[in-house]
Amino acid sequence: MILPVHCYTCCKVLGNKRVPYLELLKAEYAKGDALDALGLKRYCCRCMLLFLVDLIKKLLNYAHQEK
Ligand SMILES: [Zn+2]
Repeated sequence: MILPVHCYTCCKVLGNKRVPYLELLKAEYAKGDALDALGLKRYCCRCMLLFLVDLIKKLLNYAHQEK
C-alpha cells in the first residue's frame, strides 16, 4: 500500500524516503544497504520500508468498475 507519513512507533518522518529507497533498489543496492544509506537505523522504521508492498497500481484497475 502507500507508505505512512511517519513511523507508527517512533514518529520518524518516512514519507520522503519511499522514492529514494526505490531508486536505490533500482541501482542494485541490497535492501539493508539502501536503508542504511537513507539513515534508517531503528528496526521499527526499517520494517515499514522492508515490508512495503506497492499495490496502488493493482488497486487502480478496480477503480473503473465502481462506476
Ligand atoms: Zn521508527
